[in-house]
This record gives sequence, structure tokens and C-alpha cells, in this order.
Amino acid sequence: MYELTDLRVGSMTDVGCVRELNEDAVLVRGPLFAVADGMGGHAAGEVAAAIALEHLSVLADRPVVDRTEVVAAIDRANAAILRAGAADPAAAGLGTTVSGVCFASIAGSPHWLIFNVGDSRVYRHAGGRLSQVTVDHSEVEELVAAGHITREQARTHPMRNVVTRSLGTDPAPVCDIWVLPVEAGDRFLICSDGLSGEVDDAAIEAALRDEPDPQRAAVALVHQALDAGAHDNVSVIVVGLPLGDDQQVDITAPRKQLRGTA
Ligand code: MG
Repeated sequence: MYELTDLRVGSMTDVGCVRELNEDAVLVRGPLFAVADGMGGHAAGEVAAAIALEHLSVLADRPVVDRTEVVAAIDRANAAILRAGAADPAAAGLGTTVSGVCFASIAGSPHWLIFNVGDSRVYRHAGGRLSQVTVDHSEVEELVAAGHITREQARTHPMRNVVTRSLGTDPAPVCDIWVLPVEAGDRFLICSDGLSGEVDDAAIEAALRDEPDPQRAAVALVHQALDAGAHDNVSVIVVGLPLGDDQQVDITAPRKQLRGTA
């Protein structure tokens, strides 16, 4: 059965080629891996992203983490960001996305718990194929879902940076949660829109397939975004399990998909 010490992880965050500040933040503290993309003027986004990851990092000290604890930590982060905005007029309107993966124990066996608020993303890379697990909370995602624009048009649409859910809002945002069984060779990519806005899914899939080492894969992906002009901050975490010969994966719970918390 896989344990936390089996996880392999790499990460990188970069200010990009245009922005003056890096308002993204990454948390790499097993069993929690998360990216936050802060927003708001006067460096407020940096504050919001830091608050979000600080509240999640508390879970890293727990022997067992479950879905309820992740949702509660995100709710506490939302309240703390609202307080920070109320306390400082210059920081009013601060907010952040948060997306991540937690190696969690569910019904006594290890699972991946994926969570998302906003338009940062979690992708799964398994068997050489990439699939996006999270669904963006963004204006363009709603336009695509309604059939008004194509996914390709969404990449250059003027509303592409407008999120429809974020931390720092009242009422608190609903956090989407997915629970996936652990499988040998699983890898997850957690990234801010500074990667997904510059590098398309086919190139991300190829980069992960070509580079098994998670740190080298993370660096390669950030460099692809930089080569494409990196108009935004770029953050990447690659986390996963090796393909073991004799490691047994214990899957005792059925595959299920959970959405929302309301
Ligand atoms: Mg961004």
C-alpha cells in the first residue's frame, strides 16, 4: 500500500515576463499540495494567496485528512481574507484562487482528494494521457458550457481572466471536491492560469510524458510558459507515485465523484 513517503514531487513558481510581482503561491507540504493565484492591487493578491495556503498548511500536520477538513480549512481561509480586506482599505477586494491535491485517507485507504475554487487547475496524467480534473470557475468556462464559444476561442477571449468563484467573498464560495482512487504511476499537475493560458493541453501532456522526474517536469513546463511570453505569473506542482513493480495499491472504496459542499 502506498504511503506519504512514496510521493514524488517537484514545483516551481515564476513571476513571468510581464508582471512586476509574483502573486501566485505554492504549498508543497505532504499530504497537501496546492497553488493559489492571488488578485487585487497593491500586492493584496500576494497576501490573499499566502493566507489561503497558510490555512491549508495546518492540515499537513494531521495524520489523517478527510474531505470535511479540507473544506473547513478553505472556509477559514475565506473568512481570514475577508477580515484582511476589511482591515486595510488599500487591500479591499483582495482574493485568490486555490487548487490542489491531498493524499487523503478515506474509509481507511489512500485516495487523492482534489479541490478547487477559481481558475487554477488540477490535471491527472495517467497512462501517458492528460485529463483536466477540475472545472474552471470562470466566465469563459460558462460561455463554453453554454455553447457560445469554443474551447479554443476561450483561450484568447477578453473575459478569459474573469473568475466566477474565489476566496475572499461573502457568501463564501463553494469548493468543488473530487475523490479518486490511488493508482500506480498516477501523476497530478497543479498549476495557475499562467501555465494553462500559455501552454496548451497537448504540450502539457507531452512534457509530462517525456519527463518522469517531477522537478524536471515542473521546470520544463514553467520554461515553456516563459518561452510563450508568460504574460502572467506561472506556478506548477507535479506530484505523484512511481510505477512500482511489486507495490500493491489498496483500493477498498469504490470510485466516486463528489461535487460541491452546499
Ligand atoms: Mg494568474
